[in-house]
Amino acid sequence: MLKSRLFSLLSKYNLRINSDLGQNFLIVDDIIKREVERAEIKANETVLEIGPGLGFLTDELSKYAKKVYAVEKDSRLVEILQKEYSWKNVEIIRGDALKVEFPEFDKIVSNLPYQISSPITFKFLRYDFKKAVLIYQLEFAQRMTAKPGDKNYSRLSVMVQAKADVELVERIGRGAFYPKPKVDSAVIILNPKPKEEQIELDDSLVKALFQHRRKKASKALKDSYHMLELTKEKFKEIRRIFDKIPHAEKRVFQLSIWEIKDIEEFLRKEGILGCS
Ligand code: SAM
Repeated sequence: MLKSRLFSLLSKYNLRINSDLGQNFLIVDDIIKREVERAEIKANETVLEIGPGLGFLTDELSKYAKKVYAVEKDSRLVEILQKEYSWKNVEIIRGDALKVEFPEFDKIVSNLPYQISSPITFKFLRYDFKKAVLIYQLEFAQRMTAKPGDKNYSRLSVMVQAKADVELVERIGRGAFYPKPKVDSAVIILNPKPKEEQIELDDSLVKALFQHRRKKASKALKDSYHMLELTKEKFKEIRRIFDKIPHAEKRVFQLSIWEIKDIEEFLRKEGILGCS
Protein backbone atom coordinates (compact mmCIF):
# COMPACT_ATOMS: atom_id res chain seq x y z
CA MET A 1 0.00 0.00 0.00
CA LEU A 2 2.81 2.40 0.89
CA LYS A 3 4.55 1.44 -2.32
CA SER A 4 1.61 2.56 -4.47
CA ARG A 5 1.30 5.78 -2.43
CA LEU A 6 5.02 6.39 -2.98
CA PHE A 7 4.71 5.87 -6.75
CA SER A 8 1.70 8.13 -6.99
CA LEU A 9 3.56 10.92 -5.12
CA LEU A 10 6.66 10.48 -7.29
CA SER A 11 4.63 10.83 -10.46
CA LYS A 12 2.29 13.57 -9.16
CA TYR A 13 5.28 15.80 -8.32
CA ASN A 14 7.56 14.49 -11.05
CA LEU A 15 10.04 13.81 -8.30
CA ARG A 16 13.46 12.33 -8.96
CA ILE A 17 14.98 10.45 -6.05
CA ASN A 18 18.23 11.97 -4.82
CA SER A 19 20.53 9.13 -3.83
CA ASP A 20 23.18 11.61 -2.62
CA LEU A 21 20.75 12.36 0.22
CA GLY A 22 20.30 8.67 1.07
CA GLN A 23 16.70 8.68 -0.18
CA ASN A 24 15.61 5.08 0.27
CA PHE A 25 12.02 5.22 1.40
CA LEU A 26 10.55 2.61 3.75
CA ILE A 27 7.58 0.98 2.07
CA VAL A 28 6.61 -1.72 4.56
CA ASP A 29 3.82 -0.60 6.82
CA ASP A 30 4.56 -3.17 9.55
CA ILE A 31 8.16 -2.05 9.94
CA ILE A 32 7.06 1.56 10.38
CA LYS A 33 4.46 0.50 12.98
CA ARG A 34 7.00 -1.59 14.90
CA GLU A 35 9.50 1.26 14.90
CA VAL A 36 6.92 3.56 16.44
CA GLU A 37 5.72 0.93 18.96
CA ARG A 38 9.29 0.39 20.15
CA ALA A 39 9.61 4.09 20.94
CA GLU A 40 6.73 3.76 23.50
CA ILE A 41 5.70 7.33 22.86
CA LYS A 42 3.55 8.91 25.55
CA ALA A 43 0.87 11.46 24.72
CA ASN A 44 2.87 14.28 26.33
CA GLU A 45 6.14 13.52 24.54
CA THR A 46 7.96 15.33 21.76
CA VAL A 47 9.65 13.31 19.04
CA LEU A 48 12.48 14.31 16.73
CA GLU A 49 12.67 12.74 13.28
CA ILE A 50 15.58 13.20 10.90
CA GLY A 51 14.66 12.99 7.22
CA PRO A 52 10.85 12.62 7.05
CA GLY A 53 11.08 12.03 3.29
CA LEU A 54 7.53 11.58 2.01
CA GLY A 55 6.12 11.52 5.53
CA PHE A 56 5.12 7.86 6.01
CA LEU A 57 6.90 7.44 9.35
CA THR A 58 6.10 11.03 10.35
CA ASP A 59 2.39 10.33 9.84
CA GLU A 60 2.48 7.35 12.21
CA LEU A 61 4.46 9.36 14.80
CA SER A 62 1.94 12.20 14.64
CA LYS A 63 -0.78 9.81 15.90
CA TYR A 64 1.01 9.23 19.23
CA ALA A 65 3.24 12.18 20.05
CA LYS A 66 2.26 15.55 21.42
CA LYS A 67 4.61 17.13 18.93
CA VAL A 68 6.89 15.93 16.13
CA TYR A 69 9.83 17.95 14.82
CA ALA A 70 10.97 16.61 11.47
CA VAL A 71 14.20 17.94 9.97
CA GLU A 72 14.42 17.58 6.16
CA LYS A 73 17.23 18.85 3.96
CA ASP A 74 15.53 18.39 0.58
CA SER A 75 13.39 21.49 -0.11
CA ARG A 76 11.26 19.66 -2.69
CA LEU A 77 10.26 17.10 -0.07
CA VAL A 78 9.46 19.87 2.41
CA GLU A 79 7.05 21.40 -0.10
CA ILE A 80 5.39 18.05 -0.80
CA LEU A 81 4.96 17.35 2.93
CA GLN A 82 3.35 20.75 3.41
CA LYS A 83 0.94 20.18 0.51
CA GLU A 84 0.03 16.56 1.22
CA TYR A 85 -0.56 16.53 4.97
CA SER A 86 -2.58 18.66 7.34
CA TRP A 87 -0.89 17.62 10.58
CA LYS A 88 -1.56 19.90 13.55
CA ASN A 89 1.27 18.59 15.71
CA VAL A 90 4.10 18.27 13.18
CA GLU A 91 6.63 21.00 12.52
CA ILE A 92 8.85 20.50 9.50
CA ILE A 93 12.26 22.10 9.88
CA ARG A 94 13.92 22.74 6.54
CA GLY A 95 17.64 22.25 6.94
CA ASP A 96 20.65 20.04 7.38
CA ALA A 97 20.27 17.95 10.53
CA LEU A 98 24.01 18.20 11.11
CA LYS A 99 23.81 21.99 11.22
CA VAL A 100 20.47 22.98 12.78
CA GLU A 101 20.11 23.34 16.52
CA PHE A 102 17.49 20.78 17.61
CA PRO A 103 14.54 21.96 19.69
CA GLU A 104 13.96 20.12 22.97
CA PHE A 105 12.67 16.59 22.47
CA ASP A 106 12.06 13.40 24.46
CA LYS A 107 12.65 10.71 21.86
CA ILE A 108 14.11 10.23 18.40
CA VAL A 109 12.59 7.97 15.78
CA SER A 110 14.17 7.94 12.32
CA ASN A 111 15.05 6.00 9.24
CA LEU A 112 18.36 7.80 8.90
CA PRO A 113 20.15 8.94 5.75
CA TYR A 114 23.07 6.52 5.99
CA GLN A 115 25.74 8.90 4.74
CA ILE A 116 25.46 10.94 7.98
CA SER A 117 25.15 7.99 10.39
CA SER A 118 28.30 8.70 12.34
CA PRO A 119 28.12 12.51 12.85
CA ILE A 120 24.37 12.47 13.51
CA THR A 121 24.73 9.75 16.16
CA PHE A 122 27.43 11.75 17.96
CA LYS A 123 25.26 14.85 17.67
CA PHE A 124 22.28 12.98 19.26
CA LEU A 125 24.50 11.96 22.16
CA ARG A 126 25.20 15.60 22.99
CA TYR A 127 21.48 16.12 23.72
CA ASP A 128 19.41 15.00 26.67
CA PHE A 129 16.76 12.49 25.61
CA LYS A 130 15.04 9.33 26.84
CA LYS A 131 15.26 6.91 23.97
CA ALA A 132 15.98 6.62 20.26
CA VAL A 133 14.74 4.07 17.72
CA LEU A 134 16.85 4.35 14.60
CA ILE A 135 17.36 2.52 11.34
CA TYR A 136 20.97 2.25 10.19
CA GLN A 137 22.91 0.30 7.63
CA LEU A 138 23.37 -3.20 9.14
CA GLU A 139 27.16 -3.05 9.17
CA PHE A 140 27.11 0.27 11.02
CA ALA A 141 24.56 -1.10 13.53
CA GLN A 142 26.80 -4.11 14.16
CA ARG A 143 29.75 -1.82 14.88
CA MET A 144 27.62 0.24 17.27
CA THR A 145 26.67 -2.83 19.30
CA ALA A 146 29.94 -4.83 19.12
CA LYS A 147 31.58 -5.88 22.41
CA PRO A 148 35.30 -6.17 23.28
CA GLY A 149 36.80 -9.08 21.34
CA ASP A 150 34.19 -8.96 18.52
CA LYS A 151 35.43 -8.49 15.00
CA ASN A 152 33.31 -5.35 14.62
CA TYR A 153 34.50 -3.74 17.88
CA SER A 154 35.74 -0.29 16.92
CA ARG A 155 36.07 3.33 17.94
CA LEU A 156 32.35 3.74 17.19
CA SER A 157 31.40 0.90 19.59
CA VAL A 158 33.49 2.48 22.35
CA MET A 159 32.36 6.07 21.91
CA VAL A 160 28.65 5.18 21.65
CA GLN A 161 28.58 2.60 24.46
CA ALA A 162 30.40 5.01 26.78
CA LYS A 163 27.24 7.14 26.64
CA ALA A 164 24.36 4.78 25.93
CA ASP A 165 23.05 1.23 26.06
CA VAL A 166 22.68 0.04 22.49
CA GLU A 167 20.65 -2.88 21.19
CA LEU A 168 20.16 -4.24 17.67
CA VAL A 169 16.54 -5.40 17.68
CA GLU A 170 15.67 -6.20 14.07
CA ARG A 171 17.36 -6.77 10.74
CA ILE A 172 15.66 -5.32 7.69
CA GLY A 173 16.24 -6.65 4.18
CA ARG A 174 16.87 -4.24 1.34
CA GLY A 175 13.50 -5.10 -0.23
CA ALA A 176 11.76 -3.04 2.48
CA PHE A 177 12.93 0.17 0.80
CA TYR A 178 12.41 1.92 -2.49
CA PRO A 179 14.71 2.24 -4.27
CA LYS A 180 16.41 -0.89 -2.95
CA PRO A 181 19.69 0.04 -1.24
CA LYS A 182 22.82 -2.05 -1.86
CA VAL A 183 23.01 -3.05 1.81
CA ASP A 184 20.76 -4.51 4.50
CA SER A 185 19.64 -2.41 7.45
CA ALA A 186 18.88 -2.82 11.14
CA VAL A 187 16.85 -1.19 13.87
CA ILE A 188 18.83 0.08 16.83
CA ILE A 189 17.45 1.13 20.20
CA LEU A 190 19.62 3.66 22.00
CA ASN A 191 18.99 4.31 25.71
CA PRO A 192 21.28 7.06 27.05
CA LYS A 193 22.87 6.10 30.39
CA PRO A 194 22.14 8.29 33.41
CA LYS A 195 24.56 11.24 33.33
CA GLU A 196 26.55 9.94 36.32
CA GLU A 197 27.18 6.61 34.55
CA GLN A 198 28.29 8.09 31.24
CA ILE A 199 32.03 7.87 30.62
CA GLU A 200 33.85 10.79 29.02
CA LEU A 201 36.66 9.50 26.84
CA ASP A 202 39.41 11.41 25.09
CA ASP A 203 38.50 11.01 21.43
CA SER A 204 42.06 11.41 20.17
CA LEU A 205 43.24 8.58 22.46
CA VAL A 206 40.48 6.25 21.25
CA LYS A 207 41.30 7.17 17.64
CA ALA A 208 45.01 6.57 18.23
CA LEU A 209 44.36 3.15 19.79
CA PHE A 210 41.93 1.92 17.13
CA GLN A 211 44.23 3.00 14.35
CA HIS A 212 45.98 -0.30 15.18
CA ARG A 213 43.18 -2.40 16.62
CA ARG A 214 45.01 -5.76 16.44
CA LYS A 215 48.21 -4.53 18.10
CA LYS A 216 48.99 -4.50 21.79
CA ALA A 217 47.81 -1.29 23.44
CA SER A 218 51.34 -0.03 24.17
CA LYS A 219 52.52 -0.70 20.60
CA ALA A 220 49.39 0.87 19.12
CA LEU A 221 50.02 4.10 21.00
CA LYS A 222 53.69 4.16 20.09
CA ASP A 223 52.73 3.75 16.44
CA SER A 224 50.24 6.58 16.55
CA TYR A 225 51.92 8.98 19.00
CA HIS A 226 51.44 11.80 16.47
CA MET A 227 47.66 11.51 17.00
CA LEU A 228 48.23 12.45 20.64
CA GLU A 229 49.83 15.69 19.47
CA LEU A 230 53.31 14.60 20.55
CA THR A 231 56.29 15.80 18.53
CA LYS A 232 58.87 13.25 17.42
CA GLU A 233 61.40 14.70 19.90
CA LYS A 234 58.96 14.56 22.79
CA PHE A 235 57.94 11.02 21.86
CA LYS A 236 61.57 9.83 21.83
CA GLU A 237 62.03 11.31 25.27
CA ILE A 238 58.98 9.63 26.82
CA ARG A 239 58.39 6.50 24.73
CA ARG A 240 59.21 4.17 27.64
CA ILE A 241 56.19 5.44 29.54
CA PHE A 242 53.98 3.66 27.01
CA ASP A 243 55.30 0.29 28.22
CA LYS A 244 53.91 1.09 31.64
CA ILE A 245 50.35 1.94 30.66
CA PRO A 246 47.65 -0.22 32.28
CA HIS A 247 46.62 -3.18 30.06
CA ALA A 248 49.72 -2.59 27.90
CA GLU A 249 49.80 -6.22 26.77
CA LYS A 250 46.14 -6.43 25.75
CA ARG A 251 45.20 -6.11 22.09
CA VAL A 252 43.28 -2.93 21.38
CA PHE A 253 40.17 -4.78 20.13
CA GLN A 254 39.97 -6.55 23.51
CA LEU A 255 40.02 -3.42 25.68
CA SER A 256 36.82 -2.61 27.54
CA ILE A 257 35.68 0.99 27.86
CA TRP A 258 36.84 1.00 31.49
CA GLU A 259 40.27 -0.27 30.51
CA ILE A 260 40.57 2.53 27.94
CA LYS A 261 39.60 4.96 30.69
CA ASP A 262 42.39 3.50 32.87
CA ILE A 263 44.89 4.17 30.08
CA GLU A 264 43.56 7.71 29.66
CA GLU A 265 43.89 8.47 33.36
CA PHE A 266 47.44 7.10 33.42
CA LEU A 267 48.45 9.23 30.44
CA ARG A 268 46.91 12.30 32.03
CA LYS A 269 48.80 11.69 35.25
CA GLU A 270 52.00 11.43 33.25
CA GLY A 271 51.18 14.73 31.52
CA ILE A 272 50.93 13.08 28.09
CA LEU A 273 47.26 13.79 27.52
CA GLY A 274 45.52 17.10 27.98
CA CYS A 275 48.77 19.05 28.11
CA SER A 276 48.84 20.43 24.56
N1 SAM B 1 11.66 8.86 6.65
C1 SAM B 1 11.56 8.46 5.27
C2 SAM B 1 11.27 6.99 5.19
O1 SAM B 1 11.42 6.31 6.20
O2 SAM B 1 10.91 6.51 4.13
C3 SAM B 1 12.81 8.82 4.47
C4 SAM B 1 14.10 8.23 4.97
S1 SAM B 1 15.43 8.39 3.84
C5 SAM B 1 16.42 7.00 4.32
C6 SAM B 1 16.42 9.71 4.47
C7 SAM B 1 15.80 11.10 4.43
O3 SAM B 1 16.73 12.02 5.02
C8 SAM B 1 15.51 11.64 3.04
O4 SAM B 1 14.25 12.24 3.06
C9 SAM B 1 16.60 12.71 2.81
O5 SAM B 1 16.20 13.75 1.95
C10 SAM B 1 16.83 13.20 4.23
N2 SAM B 1 18.16 13.76 4.47
C11 SAM B 1 19.35 13.41 3.92
N3 SAM B 1 20.37 14.09 4.47
C12 SAM B 1 19.82 14.91 5.40
C13 SAM B 1 20.36 15.88 6.32
N4 SAM B 1 21.67 16.13 6.37
N5 SAM B 1 19.51 16.53 7.13
C14 SAM B 1 18.16 16.27 7.09
N6 SAM B 1 17.60 15.38 6.24
C15 SAM B 1 18.42 14.70 5.41
